Amino acid sequence: MSLTPYCHTFIALGSNLENPTQHILQAFDELSKLPASRLLTYSSLYRSAPVGRLDQPDFINAVALIETALSPQVLLNTLLTIEQQHGRIRESLNAPRTLDLDILMIDDLQCKDDNLTLPHPRMHQRAFVLQPLIEISPDCHIPGKGAIAQFLAACSEQRLEQVKENDIK
Ligand code: AMP
Repeated sequence: MSLTPYCHTFIALGSNLENPTQHILQAFDELSKLPASRLLTYSSLYRSAPVGRLDQPDFINAVALIETALSPQVLLNTLLTIEQQHGRIRESLNAPRTLDLDILMIDDLQCKDDNLTLPHPRMHQRAFVLQPLIEISPDCHIPGKGAIAQFLAACSEQRLEQVKENDIK
């Protein structure tokens, strides 16, 4: 019997540069190979309008659920390394990117450290996070905030569409 404390962790994926779909599919594969972790499920792909800075291509987004024995800080650093391996350049806030990996929630943990805030502070405002999240976890609650269904209803004006299987290249 293993006594390792595995945490259920939701991760948001986004890309809008250099064949975004391939970046997301490759990132699913990389999440499935994280040390001390298991990829439990992931959502379909969604196409979304950019937020904040509008003069950039649409994004491809998804959410994955892993269980992991990595500490939050080690997981964050590992995800930042994967972003870098995808050629991520941090130019400015809301700039286009090859791959963005955000930790949405780790169990019901709430924290506000220098480099990690949980739950992710903007997740409840973004249809491109909430829709894939509700797809893989319909009864999901955001710790300290509440059921995601209510937040999704408030995002109905944000353009978002599911990418059909046949359109995935
Ligand atoms: P960005 O890639 O623009 O989303 O920003 C990444 C930076 O946000 C990282 O360097 C983290 O230190 C910080 N950060 C704070 N909270 C989170 C979180 N929940 N998930 C991912 N990055 C976070």
